[in-house]
Amino acid sequence: MQSHQKVSLRWRRTKIIATIGPATDHAKNIADLIKAGVNVFRLNMSHGEHAQHEKVFERIRRCAKKMDAHIAILMDLCGPKIRVGRFENGSITLKKNSEVIISCRAGIGREGYIISQYRQLYKDVKPRDRILLDDGNLECRVVEIKGKDVVCKVVYGGELKDNKGLNLPDSSVSASSLTAKDKRDVELAMRLGADYVALSFVRSARDIINLKKYMHRMDRELPIIAKIEKPEAISNIDEIVKNAYGIMIARGDLGIELPAEQVPLIQKDLINRARYHHRPVIVATQMMESMITHARPTRAEVGDVANAALSSTDAVMLSAETAVGKYPVTTVRIMDRILREIERNQWASNRFGEDLYHSDEHPSSRKAIAHAACTLAQDLKLQGILVPTRSGHTAAVLSARRPSSPLLGVSTQLVTCRKLAIHWGILPFLMKEEKVRNWQVLSQEISKHFKLMRTGNRVLLVSGFNDNEMLNEPALKIIKVHRE
Ligand code: PEP
Repeated sequence: MQSHQKVSLRWRRTKIIATIGPATDHAKNIADLIKAGVNVFRLNMSHGEHAQHEKVFERIRRCAKKMDAHIAILMDLCGPKIRVGRFENGSITLKKNSEVIISCRAGIGREGYIISQYRQLYKDVKPRDRILLDDGNLECRVVEIKGKDVVCKVVYGGELKDNKGLNLPDSSVSASSLTAKDKRDVELAMRLGADYVALSFVRSARDIINLKKYMHRMDRELPIIAKIEKPEAISNIDEIVKNAYGIMIARGDLGIELPAEQVPLIQKDLINRARYHHRPVIVATQMMESMITHARPTRAEVGDVANAALSSTDAVMLSAETAVGKYPVTTVRIMDRILREIERNQWASNRFGEDLYHSDEHPSSRKAIAHAACTLAQDLKLQGILVPTRSGHTAAVLSARRPSSPLLGVSTQLVTCRKLAIHWGILPFLMKEEKVRNWQVLSQEISKHFKLMRTGNRVLLVSGFNDNEMLNEPALKIIKVHRE
């Protein structure tokens, strides 16, 4: 292996997000997951109490500090997830072609009678609409609406347990995507200083703007990851991508709300759109599902993770696999191996992602410089690209180009270093304020930290960008690093 390749492939480019849950919420598990390769932890606000989330949050921060790792925390708001209520005996059985009532009144369910926790359901559906239950495993069709009762016919039957999810793929749901519970959860996220919040069931940019306004009133704004899981979101995707910090392809609900066969091409399209707008994108759900109970993934799951990396997603996400699974650390290790295998191949063919630059009709100067920097680093086989970045924006633009040289996002802000953890290929580096002045010395220090040094090897410094375009004075500088 050439030295350039050895250095370049030391780090995995595609980031790994792991959901924390009862299987992993102790300090030892968190440390093991970080060692196995987790870059971002997700706290799922659909489960658990605030006091527990707070404890886990602090535990992650402590572990990351001890391990000197820039690990981010994503707090995922549950949004208006519609669920059925409870049943007298914990479950009922829906029989094909039988009639069932889904009621919006308070009460408890029984055979032929389901309570909807979403009380406006009867207003949002119309005859012939589909109502899907339990992740789409059961299907009913609306026959008529009688007051607050929705009378349905069962199309695909089976057992329905307490509190299972309910999806309305043919109806336009009127509930706000920011519920009262979400508001309490956002307040917790702001108080704790989460690195991002994920907003569920986003339908338009308005949902993101409303959350931003809500946070603004509390005097703090956290980066928002828009979860794409509704057909309306696909129709409004460009505005959503522009307004959000990043997006998550939440394939669980997306594959219920839309025909599942449409999801793979949507995934590919969303990855490219996010990259075009230099937003990070996460592929989520069922990536290693069988590892919840088995020590090896299925070949199809390996193919799914590989495909996400080949399409050049920023991150892949694990849900129940790490939250409640039997093999959380093994799952992350195997995911890491799959991603590295694909990336080795991408590196060898000089192609970590589709070239979106040449079809870009509005290249900004930052995008043009990023393009030039990546080409230069590749042509000259430079050991790394150093990007000083205050807000993280310049590093994000470079990352979206998917350079083959390692990308070092250098910031004086700890929050920026953590925020960069989700972006493809970025290795965050916290620099001390007083070192900003001398890039030659700092490059030397960074190169030493990342072990890029061989006498005379070179790194590329990309600097001079300002979030105020008028103050941009971009510069590319090749710096020689020496062993001391
Ligand atoms: C999904 O639906 O794929 C998803 C990630 O959302 P959640 O796990 O919150 O249902």
